[in-house]
Amino acid sequence: MAVQTESSVKDSLDLLARKWKIDPKLYDLQTGRRDDVVDTPINVGGVVFHIPTLSKDRLHVLWKCLWPDCHNCCERQGRLPLTKDDIGRIAKKVGYDSNSEFVRNETRISSWQEQAAFGNVITTLSMISLKRKMDEREEDDGTPLRCRFLDEQGFCGIHPDKPGVCWLYPFASWLEADARKQPVVHATFQFTGDCPGFYLDKSIDSMMPVLQEYSGKIYSYNMAVSRTTRENYGFVNLIDLRRG
Ligand code: SF4
Ligand code: SF4
Repeated sequence: MAVQTESSVKDSLDLLARKWKIDPKLYDLQTGRRDDVVDTPINVGGVVFHIPTLSKDRLHVLWKCLWPDCHNCCERQGRLPLTKDDIGRIAKKVGYDSNSEFVRNETRISSWQEQAAFGNVITTLSMISLKRKMDEREEDDGTPLRCRFLDEQGFCGIHPDKPGVCWLYPFASWLEADARKQPVVHATFQFTGDCPGFYLDKSIDSMMPVLQEYSGKIYSYNMAVSRTTRENYGFVNLIDLRRG
C-alpha cells in the first residue's frame, strides 16, 4: 500500500461519495477518525488476513467487489508495478515478441514506500511499472489516473493477463517472519478512499468465500514478487519496526 495522507484519502472518499453511499463509520475509519480499531487476524489457506474491527460497535470491516457496477480502481489507478511473470504475460498479450522491447516502450520505474496498517514492516520498493497512459511521467507516479486498458463498458482490455496488483486490490500484502523465523504471508485492506465495496458486519462469515479465493491469489503474488526481486527485476527493502 502506498503511504497516503489522510487528506488525500478524504479527497478520494468525498469524490466516491458523489456516486456511492458511504457508511459514516467507514468514512471515519478511512479518514483516521476512529480510535477503537483493533486487528482481528484470521488464517485462511496459510495467509493471515488482518480484518479491522471497530471495537466500540463490535463490527468487522469486510469487502465485496461491486464490479461491473463499479470500476473505480481502474479509473483512479495509482501505479501498476509488475512482477517478472506479469512482464512475460502482458508483453505477449499486447503483441510484443521481446520482453525488453515491451519494458522499453510500455513501462517505467516506480519507487515508493509502503506500511501496512497492522504490519510491523516498512517496505521500500522499486519496480518496473506498466504505464497507465502512454505519456506517463515520473511525477505521475502515485497519482490516480484512468488506466488506458479500461474500456467504456468497464472491462479490462488485458484481462485475464492483467498485473497481479490488479487481481489483489483492495488488499495489501507482505511477508513477515514468524517466531520460528519462517516467512508468513499477511494481508489487510489498503484504504485508498477509492473503493465503495467495504461494508460492516458482526460476523466475518459472509466474507469467507472471498478470503478463500484471495488467499490463493495473495500467496501466489508474494511468491511472484520474491522471484522478481531475486532475479533483479525489482528491489524490495524491508525495515522491521519491532527491531527498534
Ligand atoms: S473499486 Fe472496489 S468495488 Fe470497485 S471494482 Fe475496484 S475493488 Fe471492486
Ligand atoms: S490493467 Fe486492467 S484491471 Fe488493471 S487498472 Fe488497468 S484496466 Fe484495471
